[in-house]
Amino acid sequence: MTQDAGAPLAAMFINGQFQQAQGGETFVSINPANGQPVARIPFGDDRDARLAVDAAADAFPVWSRLSAAVRARHLHRVADILERRRGEMALVITSEEGKPLHEAQGELQLSIDSLRWYGEEARRAYGSWIPDPVPGRRLLTQRDPVGVCGAIIPWNVPCGMIFRKAAPALAAGCTMVLKPAEATSYVALKIAEVFAEADLPAGVINFVTGKASAIGNVFLTDERVRKISFTGSTETGRVLLRGAADHIKRTSMELGGNAPVILFEDCDLDASLRAVAALKFLNAGQACIGANRIYVQSSIHDEVGRRLADHARQMKVGEGSLPGVAMGPLVDMKAVEKVEELVGDAVRKGASVRAGGSRMQGEAYEKGSFYAPTVLTEVPRTARMHDEEIFGPVAALYAFETEEQAVELANDVPYGLSAYIFTENMDRAIRVGERLETGMVGINEIRLGAAEAPFGGVKMSGIGREGGREGLDEYLETKLLAIRVKG
Ligand code: ADP
Repeated sequence: MTQDAGAPLAAMFINGQFQQAQGGETFVSINPANGQPVARIPFGDDRDARLAVDAAADAFPVWSRLSAAVRARHLHRVADILERRRGEMALVITSEEGKPLHEAQGELQLSIDSLRWYGEEARRAYGSWIPDPVPGRRLLTQRDPVGVCGAIIPWNVPCGMIFRKAAPALAAGCTMVLKPAEATSYVALKIAEVFAEADLPAGVINFVTGKASAIGNVFLTDERVRKISFTGSTETGRVLLRGAADHIKRTSMELGGNAPVILFEDCDLDASLRAVAALKFLNAGQACIGANRIYVQSSIHDEVGRRLADHARQMKVGEGSLPGVAMGPLVDMKAVEKVEELVGDAVRKGASVRAGGSRMQGEAYEKGSFYAPTVLTEVPRTARMHDEEIFGPVAALYAFETEEQAVELANDVPYGLSAYIFTENMDRAIRVGERLETGMVGINEIRLGAAEAPFGGVKMSGIGREGGREGLDEYLETKLLAIRVKG
């Protein structure tokens, strides 16, 4: 008796065709809220990746020579279909990743915005005439697509991340092979259906599921793949960067976060607490921009701890498709065990548990990977969760005294993706914002993402940007044309 009876059999999308893995193997993806199978997924390897790269390489001359305006029309069509199918897609995201439906809808909106905005923005990928010091010569530049791109997608934003990469790449004239995370492969293969329905030329976009290292290795070693765009852990990013060096490939790396949040005593406490709670428990804490270290000025530390704990206790936790659910499960039990380990370590070192601090109890939670919304106060700097990404629903509060100390603590990790400041003193907000070593700073604001805005990190949080004009540059080369003009 197979455990996945009734789960649909999904297919990879290569060269405009839905197909199974060359080796014929499959695996089952699981709903983390109830342990039920979501779909049976092809377990592809290097053979499938190679076929996909063949298709993307064949499609590149055709796609890259279309005008940007025509490519934009294709992307608008994909966006139209995604818009029409958003209800169905949101349910797929929630059932495979676990996040509440309203968060899945947010991902879809960002995806649709990215398709439309990049479709139009690529029409403005201008070159330039350069004033030339040499008589009889003209210098001009044009922006060319990089070529075939390999994209590696994480499980925590399984739909949004596809479009953050595919929209600028395709708009620029690149073709792409995408490899989703194992845990959320069904989301990706449903999105492949959207592309199939939009009827783009075969091979422009391809989806390969299965063995990460084998597929990744094709991206690294096949010379036709000119660029790798990766979102995931710093450890895997490092492996890919090393591999990319052999063939001098371009890379974009969106890696680990470990975001600091600084709450000054002069903040608007009601608004700030709402924002911090929303940021912390977004996607059950599984977000690279999520609040990992919450520094609270000591005069308000107790009140913040108490009120955040009240909030955490009142949150409705459950299957993300149920009405009113504010927080879903973690991606799997391994993630729950990691959070338990980090909380155990912090408590042993002196942190106080103000809410949660354990798995969710009760029948509704037995088959899922649920951890309770948790608030820890007086967490010591030596706790492992200060230096590691928690990637779970644990608000860790650290007390600080002065502005100087807050900035030093915030910068005292090797990561630098996002940071957040809460204060009503704008001089302080700007002063501190300028000193934080991160790619993004939210000032009394936690929402950083928009198709129009560059998203990315510094230090060990990565290289490159997604979103905005900068996100298009990631898929363009600048070519210089030097032209002799007679007479
Ligand atoms: P996380 O810890 O968030 O799962 P990972 O970096 O392990 O982060 O995974 C992010 C993505 O990278 C996933 O799609 C995963 O399958 C992929 N991945 C993991 N290891 C490799 C590898 N050696 N080569 C290519 N891709 C990989």
